[in-house]
Amino acid sequence: MILVVNAGSSSIKFRLFDTSEKQPKDILDGLAERITIDGIVSFKYEGTKYKFEVDLPNHEVAVDFILKKLVEMKIIKSAEAIKAVGFRIVHGGTISESSVISTEVFNTIKDAVKLAPLHNPGAITAIEAVKKVMPNANLVACFDTAYHQTLNQEQYLYAVPYEWYEKHGVRKYGFHGISYQYITQQLANNLNKDLNKVNAIICHLGNGASIACIKEGKSFDTTMGLTPLAGVMMGTRSGDIDPSIIEYICNELKITVKEATSILNKQSGLLGMSGETSDMRDITNGYKQNKPNFIRSLNKYSQVAADYIIRFANLIGHDIDAIVFTAGIGENSETTREEILKRLPLLDIELDSKANEVDYDESKVISTKNSKIPVIVMRTNEELMICLDTIKLIK
Ligand code: AMP
Repeated sequence: MILVVNAGSSSIKFRLFDTSEKQPKDILDGLAERITIDGIVSFKYEGTKYKFEVDLPNHEVAVDFILKKLVEMKIIKSAEAIKAVGFRIVHGGTISESSVISTEVFNTIKDAVKLAPLHNPGAITAIEAVKKVMPNANLVACFDTAYHQTLNQEQYLYAVPYEWYEKHGVRKYGFHGISYQYITQQLANNLNKDLNKVNAIICHLGNGASIACIKEGKSFDTTMGLTPLAGVMMGTRSGDIDPSIIEYICNELKITVKEATSILNKQSGLLGMSGETSDMRDITNGYKQNKPNFIRSLNKYSQVAADYIIRFANLIGHDIDAIVFTAGIGENSETTREEILKRLPLLDIELDSKANEVDYDESKVISTKNSKIPVIVMRTNEELMICLDTIKLIK
């Protein structure tokens, strides 16, 4: 058994995989939330939902509670049945692949707190908790940044003093790498192609969103930067803006840089532009009802995504295997996909409107046979990717 953990400062998402067969199977999906506030642990097992209200003063108590519940319910024989725990870590600095959590790796995750202050501290606390509660388990870290370490300097450097990069690590790191790694592997399988020959543009459009340019099976460029604030427009994040806006709006509104940055992270994007919601379901509904605030939001969202797709198409050249849509919006919003694709006249894409609307299991082609580039929707599975990397590392 392998446990996959995605922890925040007050929550732990967990998924248990049975790894006794060749293909790992997820058997339980759960969430411990409101840690340090009060505490709820819930999970789904064999189609039934379970919920426990329990005092969770810290992550350690939460991990201990989860393990004891799994044993008590005979889902696992004992805590030792879990051979390894794979952690999703947002920022791994310049670590280029999933790694066993040695002291050195753990210190690098700690050093990256200043680059990902909202994300890495929760993961660190969870690693420490699991170490205490499960001293015999192998611990593996899978990073959202690692997959993009193949970018070359033209892509990852900013045009700022070079010292900022050398001394302070100011560079593009990129995120959603676990998802991109998974989708690229799936794409290679689907196309029956060697992984190192896959060229694709992958649009990971969830509440957080980014796009990656995959050239010869590796990340060649991506839209997020030093932090997940950069790139395309998102649910509540602005994506790219003129950096001078920050000083200007701080003076206008008499707010601090920290406050302005928080607005760019939490009150911008679809939420900021619509003034109502960050949820793409509401945006597309309002768009269909001709509401101006939803029209401007979806138009901007689609245009920015299309602008990056054409830029990445130019980086790949002529041999593009596919444009892939994934994550919450990419997988489910046919309106958003259509709006983005219709803004790419140079790519000669022909959308199959019927296919775009019909539901699917794992993946589906939504372009016609005449389309110069195939367009595919594909369900991402970051937890399975973490499980597979964990298996590889503990063998
Ligand atoms: P994620 O962060 O990957 O969970 O994606 C969350 C986003 O997916 C939210 O903006 C949701 O509104 C969006 N989403 C989920 N289902 C749909 C759907 N059926 N149509 C449009 N957007 C959806």
